[in-house]
Amino acid sequence: MEDETLATTDFKLSSDEFYSPQPEGYVIGKTKYVVIIGSVISGIGKGTISSTLCKLLHDRGLHVEPMKLEAYLNVDSGTLNPYRHGEVFVLDDGTETDLDLGSYERLLGKNLTGENFITSGKVYQRIIQKEREGKYLGRDVQFIPHVTGEIKLAVRSLAVKSQADVILIEIGGTVGDYENMFAIEALRELSYEEGKENVCFLNVTYILEPGSLGEQKSKAAQLGVKALMEMGVQPDILVCRSESKMRDSIKSKLSLYANLSPSRVFGAHDVGNIYSLPSVLRDEKFDEAICQVLHLQERFPKKDNSDLHEWSKRMSVDSDAPEITIGIAGKYLGASDTYMSIIKALEHCGFALKRNIFVKWIDTTVLEKEDASVEEVFHGIQGLIVPGGFGSRGVEGKILCIQYCREHNIPFLGLCYGFQLALVEFARHVCALNRAHTTEIDATTPYPVIDILPEQKKVWTKGGTMRLGGHDVHIKFGSDAERIHGANKIRRRFRHRYECNPEYIPSLENGGIVFSGFDSEKKIMQILELPGHPFFMATQFHPEFTSRPDDPDPLFLEFVRISGTDV
Ligand code: GLN
Repeated sequence: MEDETLATTDFKLSSDEFYSPQPEGYVIGKTKYVVIIGSVISGIGKGTISSTLCKLLHDRGLHVEPMKLEAYLNVDSGTLNPYRHGEVFVLDDGTETDLDLGSYERLLGKNLTGENFITSGKVYQRIIQKEREGKYLGRDVQFIPHVTGEIKLAVRSLAVKSQADVILIEIGGTVGDYENMFAIEALRELSYEEGKENVCFLNVTYILEPGSLGEQKSKAAQLGVKALMEMGVQPDILVCRSESKMRDSIKSKLSLYANLSPSRVFGAHDVGNIYSLPSVLRDEKFDEAICQVLHLQERFPKKDNSDLHEWSKRMSVDSDAPEITIGIAGKYLGASDTYMSIIKALEHCGFALKRNIFVKWIDTTVLEKEDASVEEVFHGIQGLIVPGGFGSRGVEGKILCIQYCREHNIPFLGLCYGFQLALVEFARHVCALNRAHTTEIDATTPYPVIDILPEQKKVWTKGGTMRLGGHDVHIKFGSDAERIHGANKIRRRFRHRYECNPEYIPSLENGGIVFSGFDSEKKIMQILELPGHPFFMATQFHPEFTSRPDDPDPLFLEFVRISGTDV
């Protein structure tokens, strides 16, 4: 017998071969889909093209929901090493995702949820749970139809919940990966079930231009299209990324091999400022072509380019505008993806202040060597950010940097770990609490100024168990934080296990620290400031996750502004 709750909530059971569960209330054709699949190589900006397309459709008046289908078996991105995979982006609902969700939030200007981020791990977890609950009617559970069915269910559930006009689904990885095969198959099935005018396949490919040949070659892109076709997917649109502008001969060749009119093959060569992409692609009738495939052009007629043009002008800085140099003292250096949201938040400040922001990376492990000179490292740096982090590597170097900023009136912004290490530094050097530390690193420190959050003491597993997501931050009256935010309550995103140990709050305050932000019960300290210093502030939360291109985070903005002022 069917389980009542299951039959009425998430899917209808069926014992035939075509297991294709649909959520309650789903109407075929109400929501349309754009599926974005990469080919040739990864790292060519598939996420940028996808978020640009979101922006274009949104600008046309469509309600767009992005969705990322990650191929890996991790349930979320929380346990991934940011050096290998880029930063872990945290959504307001606490989901730990990859950095593409950050691009979508920033370009669409809205908060997303865990339903916008599906991994193979999440899909398998749901299937295994259903199997254990005996919900497959005695059937053997198979990749097709059950894995594909679960993927389609996730996609359609988002359609029902959001009532979006278009869901834009970005598939992680590239064609030919074993991991994403079932996602591609699921979306091929979706296209069959929904009807051709309801699903648009977009292949983001790459045109090689080997230095030794000095000319563009389309073969790899052709093979990518072929691989997709072998999986039963005929792309409707090709976007060809390349270093230099795509030649017409390449366009005609690809159009022939891909069964596509040249008007469905778009070139997108490297541009300095990605914020110019929406208006460039609009000029090439990119969103027009997608609306044609999806039969949307009547409901959402062509829009001119003026708003986008205005927007991209605002999101730019003249190359000869004065520079502000910000140091970032991190661990995962050499890959800016690791600190993507921080770089973006700084960029947003640059747009608002019309200044070019130059980032100088500081490898703090170098500062721990005996002959190292902090002064030399700080040469040219006008403000310092100590970002979030975990573990002991480079920590003493970070503490040295914070001390240098505090003692030399250099603007300092600490984020999460940066907040905790600022308190360790202050305890050691101002409050004379020698060897003060965080228990994350030194469990036997005589002064555990940073200690594990009480509720974390009983947590033993790593995945999704930190204090995560959006929480209210109450701001102290008359503080700098209040002046900067112009509010006494803000909402920001967190990702931590440790906190300022409440036992040390009085000593730190006696030393001169002002805690100007806390949770509703005043138990967890969330912002610190140091009166008398040009700018010495730190947050237990991550303001970088909620900064937007046309609405920079106020704390970042004030930090950058003061860094650019001679103090
Ligand atoms: N390692 C610290 C903690 O877990 C800081 C975390 C972070 O910077 N995101 O509390």
